[in-house]
Amino acid sequence: MGIEESFLNKWDSVVKYKIAGGDDILQFNLGQPNFACPDFVKKIIEETSGKEKNNFYTHTGGTEKAREAVAMFQEKMFDLAYERDEVIITNGAKESLFLAFAAILNPSDEVIIIAPYWSSYTEQVKFLGAVPVIVSVKRDFHLDVEAIKNNITGKTRVIVINSPNNPSGMVYGKDELLEVSELAIKNGLIVVSDEVYGSTVFDGKEHVSIASLPGMKERSVLIDGFSKTLSMAGYRLGYAMSSKEMISAMIKIKSNINGNTNSFFQLVLEDALLNHFDDLMKFIDDTRNEYQSRRDFLCKSFDEMGIEFIRPEGTFYIFAKVPPKLNMKSKEFADHLLESIGVAVAPGIFFGKTFDDHFRLSFGASMESLEDGMERMKNFLS
Ligand code: PMP
Repeated sequence: MGIEESFLNKWDSVVKYKIAGGDDILQFNLGQPNFACPDFVKKIIEETSGKEKNNFYTHTGGTEKAREAVAMFQEKMFDLAYERDEVIITNGAKESLFLAFAAILNPSDEVIIIAPYWSSYTEQVKFLGAVPVIVSVKRDFHLDVEAIKNNITGKTRVIVINSPNNPSGMVYGKDELLEVSELAIKNGLIVVSDEVYGSTVFDGKEHVSIASLPGMKERSVLIDGFSKTLSMAGYRLGYAMSSKEMISAMIKIKSNINGNTNSFFQLVLEDALLNHFDDLMKFIDDTRNEYQSRRDFLCKSFDEMGIEFIRPEGTFYIFAKVPPKLNMKSKEFADHLLESIGVAVAPGIFFGKTFDDHFRLSFGASMESLEDGMERMKNFLS
């Protein structure tokens, strides 16, 4: 098969087993918001359980209303205009990514992936017999457009962009995205744009979707979902938006694999998006503000400890350097933190070979646990 189990999921199993065994562990390793599902969604779930036909198959691409509601949500949030048939509802954003790659790629096609990257990109691409071509960001974690250009060959089909970025927390600006879009158009490439952290951008900065740039709607597959936005990771609601042709190709694949996404939660989604938009916006604003305070606290703590990092502009991750005085590679460092002080972080090597001197700390965790974690790290390093 030639692929690895998701490094992050595998590492999380190690952490979860320790917790199940009674160890006192602070979980900063996984990309999971710590917020409870919003109250208005809990109420919709109760109401949906009494609805007729909540147990029936839906159209493979999703219910008509859910697809329309998602298009409406993106229009209101980011001013993007898609129609119902240009949306597919999937089992998390992860499935959308896989369906997009499967719809586009043939064996030996090349896919440019920007490092540091979320590791399922490379494994999904490899699983399809295609070839990931890794291009690093610049030192400031922004796109190195020249390097992307230099890595385009006759076999390149796709460029994967993930902004706001997991793990770096960087938010790519319009200018750099415009340069990538020009490369895509000139070379006939498709951009798979993973925007699952699009509503978590700090300091009033704007999230720009590459799909909104001239000539890009038909050249991109926009990937998003509600795992992060509405703290519904386990409910598995993701989606992709693209041309009708691309979405039809993705539906063709999905119809033969797992069929529709969970019907019950599609009904919940319809109601949440169509009838509770203000509640939803309030939840997004509140969580963004909370993440921003946590980001500020962590940046201050890392500064005090002399840990090097670039201030995240979005997401709920901080990607920092393993203190050089420890002389440890990233996995060794993460093992050490877990074993000696009960702090679980993700090793940088999970996000690309060249980041073996980094670690990612997720602040999808309560302020209280982050304060505890920073105390433990300060003691460990002093
Ligand atoms: N893309 C990125 C960059 C992610 O961090 C994640 C989740 N960690 C996903 C996609 C997958 O999200 P979902 O839960 O919707 O499958």
